[in-house]
Amino acid sequence: MKLDGRIAIITGAGSGMGRAMAQEFVANGATVVAVDVRTDPVAETVKLLDDGRSVAQTADVSSKADVERVVTETVERFGRVDILCNNAGVLDDYTPAHETTDELWNRVIGVNINGPFLFSRAALTPMLEQGKGVIINTASISSFVAGGGGAAYTSSKHAVLGLTKQLAFDYGKRGVRVNAICPGAIHTGMTGHLMTTEGRNPHVDAAIAATPAGRWGKPEEIAHMALFLASDDADFIHGAAFTVDGGWLLP
Ligand code: NAD
Repeated sequence: MKLDGRIAIITGAGSGMGRAMAQEFVANGATVVAVDVRTDPVAETVKLLDDGRSVAQTADVSSKADVERVVTETVERFGRVDILCNNAGVLDDYTPAHETTDELWNRVIGVNINGPFLFSRAALTPMLEQGKGVIINTASISSFVAGGGGAAYTSSKHAVLGLTKQLAFDYGKRGVRVNAICPGAIHTGMTGHLMTTEGRNPHVDAAIAATPAGRWGKPEEIAHMALFLASDDADFIHGAAFTVDGGWLLP
């Protein structure tokens, strides 16, 4: 199996893509430390994994103390950290800048970019000691274009790509590979409301209709890419951003 014996920390594992990644990784031999700020959903993920090894951790990725606790406890329990998926994220409900409160800005930046920085910094210590590690950041099509979110979301996802590139540049020669996945519109907890009558967003509807795929993506379709990037099959891939977006960025 592609991830036999590997230890993977996955954030945002209580829902959507993070849960799908956890399932894909365990199905391929990994043990997962499933992290989410919501306790019950992440406990449910571990129940679904049902492998007798993976564990749930309630933690806020924007909290340095929480992040350092998760990495320390992972190393204490499993002896290593092979894979880190910085996947937790929050949307800003497409709020334009002039309506973005300090609270909203700080929350989105805190989760979407401070989180990946804090977790990467903490996990790099064991990865550098091991001389091997993989970091996968869930970025977005909003890492390239406007319209997939509001000011805070788009800014945060652009920053995730910057972090991905710099980490790849700084640590590749020391055995740590860092890449990003850039999903398009994926049907998850984050976007479910956009399919309801009240929650529909005309820009999103039109953008999806214009894609070659012409449909929403599924969390498993992102997890397949995460598995590839986490595995040794991707050994020559550093600092890359893979769009898995049904062709959203084509036009
Ligand atoms: P989701 O809402 O289904 O899952 C995100 C999970 O992150 C939730 O379980 C939530 O509780 C958790 N989370 C939120 N804040 C957290 C925090 N501070 N600490 C720890 N966990 C926290 O959403 P999803 O669509 O699966 O999103 C996964 C990632 O994909 C996010 O980074 C998101 O920005 C990105 N993304 C999503 C889409 C999409 O269309 N769904 C598109 C592009 C990128």
